[in-house]
Amino acid sequence: MTETQAREALVRYGRSLFARGYSCGTSGNLSVRLEAGGYLMSPTNISLGQLDPGCLSTLDSKGVHVDGPVPTKEAWLHLAMYRSRPDDSAVVHLHSTYATALSCLSDRPDDDVLPAMTPYVVMRVGRVARVPYARPGDHTLSATISSLAIAHRAVLLANHGPVVSGASLDAAVAAAEELEETAKLFFVLGDRPHRLLDAEQIDELRRVFGS
Ligand SMILES: [Zn+2]
Repeated sequence: MTETQAREALVRYGRSLFARGYSCGTSGNLSVRLEAGGYLMSPTNISLGQLDPGCLSTLDSKGVHVDGPVPTKEAWLHLAMYRSRPDDSAVVHLHSTYATALSCLSDRPDDDVLPAMTPYVVMRVGRVARVPYARPGDHTLSATISSLAIAHRAVLLANHGPVVSGASLDAAVAAAEELEETAKLFFVLGDRPHRLLDAEQIDELRRVFGS
């Protein structure tokens, strides 16, 4: 993907996510890792619905802002994911309603917050880990997120929202959407008796689809 294509894709997905209610106000941010090195990110204090291909933030390969408007204040989240996932080229961070609600639940295990409810969440998202709460602007969880990102493409920030990476922007967005919709299923089912995929079924999906 050329830089021009990456700019257009960020704008297209930003508008789509905003229009469908995945990011309200100025919450949420998107990034891609450029083939030529460095990153393109959504700027700070802008709605994902109002991104402009000529007005995105450019960071160099060390994560230093080098061109365009000031990047999102959550750029460090994206860089923490990229550090541990060299084959991934996009990161999506949202404050989407159900995934954020899930991030607040105190009775879910931190190493497996979202139950394996459907084959699609296993294939597209995998096991979801959670990091403790930190106030906005506190980067102390950067190393923890990088460490979890080695084995997880989706990390929930407690009382905040999901961070999801993917081999492409298409894949990262699809995984963030799948996470949100599966979190919604979790709350829709609530306390009603239900079954989850068992370990054998999860192993079969990983074997067949390499997820
Ligand atoms: Zn956030």
